[in-house]
Amino acid sequence: MRDVWNIHTKNGNTSAAYGAEGKEVEIMGRIIGIDLGTTNSLAAVWQEGGSRLIPNSLGEYLTPSVVSFDDKGMVYVGKIAKERLISHPEQTASVFKRFMGTEKTYSLGGKSYRPEELSALVLRKLKEDAERYLGDKVDEAIISVPAYFNDMARKATKDAGALAGLHVERIINEPSAAALACRGWNQSSMQLADETLLVFDFGGGTLDVSLVDCFENVIEIAAVSGDNHLGGSDFDRVIAELFCSENLLVLDELPLKRQRVIFESAAKAKCALTKEEHTVMTVSDEGYHKQMELSSRKLIQSSMHLFHRMIVPVQSVLNDARKKTLEISKVALVGGSCKMPAVQQYLRRFLPESQMSVSNPDYVVALGVGIYAGIKERSEDIKDMLLTDICPFTLGTGVQNGADAANPIMAPIIERNSTLPCSRVQKFQTAGDFQKTVKIDVYQGEEYYVKDNICLGEMNVEVPIALKGQESVTVRYTYDINGLLIVDVKVDSTGRETSQIMMTGTNTITPKEMESLVKELERLKMPPAENEEFQMLFALGERLFAQSTGGLREEISRRLQYFQYLLDKEQDPYRIMKWKVNLQGFLESAGEYLDTMGFSWQQEDDDSWYQERKEDEESEEGYIRWYDGHLTS
Ligand code: ADP
Ligand code: MG
Repeated sequence: MRDVWNIHTKNGNTSAAYGAEGKEVEIMGRIIGIDLGTTNSLAAVWQEGGSRLIPNSLGEYLTPSVVSFDDKGMVYVGKIAKERLISHPEQTASVFKRFMGTEKTYSLGGKSYRPEELSALVLRKLKEDAERYLGDKVDEAIISVPAYFNDMARKATKDAGALAGLHVERIINEPSAAALACRGWNQSSMQLADETLLVFDFGGGTLDVSLVDCFENVIEIAAVSGDNHLGGSDFDRVIAELFCSENLLVLDELPLKRQRVIFESAAKAKCALTKEEHTVMTVSDEGYHKQMELSSRKLIQSSMHLFHRMIVPVQSVLNDARKKTLEISKVALVGGSCKMPAVQQYLRRFLPESQMSVSNPDYVVALGVGIYAGIKERSEDIKDMLLTDICPFTLGTGVQNGADAANPIMAPIIERNSTLPCSRVQKFQTAGDFQKTVKIDVYQGEEYYVKDNICLGEMNVEVPIALKGQESVTVRYTYDINGLLIVDVKVDSTGRETSQIMMTGTNTITPKEMESLVKELERLKMPPAENEEFQMLFALGERLFAQSTGGLREEISRRLQYFQYLLDKEQDPYRIMKWKVNLQGFLESAGEYLDTMGFSWQQEDDDSWYQERKEDEESEEGYIRWYDGHLTS
């Protein structure tokens, strides 16, 4: 029997600011749920008996997980930053979630950042947007991570929260959150039928597959598996490489900006294939204009290696849980990449079609984390909910290898897919004569040799001197729901116990570093929310400027300058709004123009296109006057 745990929480759902004597008391803010994605991030909150998505300052639910810096100490997060991937590639970073908990750093605008700092900026943006939307302080978050995240990546995620001023007590697995949302939690959930859910979460950078048993008010994760390095961006790369090979280019040797333009066009073409069988991919970059015909068929043929990898974790969870496909009552397709028809078709070959459900693949995880946030706030509606989680990887220690002493072997103590919290004990004997200490190294991973697994730390305990095998230690691993591993070692002959919490890794942030990092990040300013729409237009304009040439480019520049002039000098709200609408229309059609340019493109095309546009704009007197003055001054 698995044990099922209940979540004990403090009631955080209060905003009362004054106590009985009218004295100020500690304000406890709201708890939000955050899906901190590789590609997109979202926030949700438990409100009026349900999990609700929180719109960002642009009124959208998805905030791209992209961060960009400028020379003036400003930092942009989300859609604006995504535009700047192309216009300011050296100052902009994306996909950093893949490197959480590793030594990788990003050099941006002359400064170096760790992945957790970049994630912290995304979290800060979500927090600020949520505070504005809720009109309440937000000081705690529950963040979801891929089930396959190791301890270091989980610790890095918590650190990112702390850097953003968020208390992150709980990290949850994305598939667990998805299962919760798919289960359709509400007051009548107790009457829901028992079911086994297969959650297939295919995002931008990772694939997570999990099997979830649901009965009454219990949701129990039975097994998880996944591929940390398989996602939508791999399809983008396939398309980008197809484009390059057709045009005799070597992708990795191109300048960073051109690579990003190609990747961006590839992603766009991939998404277009969701609705159509054929599309044309266009790459426009400073006078370089090339197209490639792309069909679903061509994409599938070129990415068979990715499709084959998709099914591996599905087989693995079914094996681990000793289940057959027929026992699955529902397959939940989650994550943006599940929108690809080819992905759905491929899965239908292996999984029961009638059970396949694809509703809101973009939002499922966030909605689930919002439910967790509700549980944490102990909202009355759902406090009876029971959840279990599992340890997605094996935890063990190294033991002597009789055949090759230099190459210790992994001795599993907690097997992967064990229900959490869990505690397991094993005895180990001394391996040599007159051994003074016993070293317990703690490893995580599934490989035979410990050198191929991740070392989480080590403990040395003294033992009485004796002959080989005469002394022994009892090792207990306790792994709790928050990813905290406690290792207790008892020397059996003396009864002496030593205990250590393992959440280490050479690259985790120390409390002292944390303090100085918080200060550094606080110095970075984000654009005020009310200006964000304007900033978005500038970012779009700058991106199109970077991609175009000649007269069109000059016209984009002039129009942006005029907008800046209206904002800084004229400050007339009516004219600003009017020009904003005008500029938006102009930039959008410039973008469309760049996207649809034909094979026979000539420099003069750009010029005549913008001349035509200009004639349409003659009514914009202010602009024409400014424009003339600008030219003569
Ligand atoms: P993550 O969880 O990694 O942040 P998401 O679940 O948001 O990712 O999925 C992002 C991925 O989904 C990206 O690779 C994106 O290109 C892809 N995607 C989004 N919409 C579509 C679509 N309509 N067709 C194909 N792929 C899509
Ligand atoms: Mg996701």
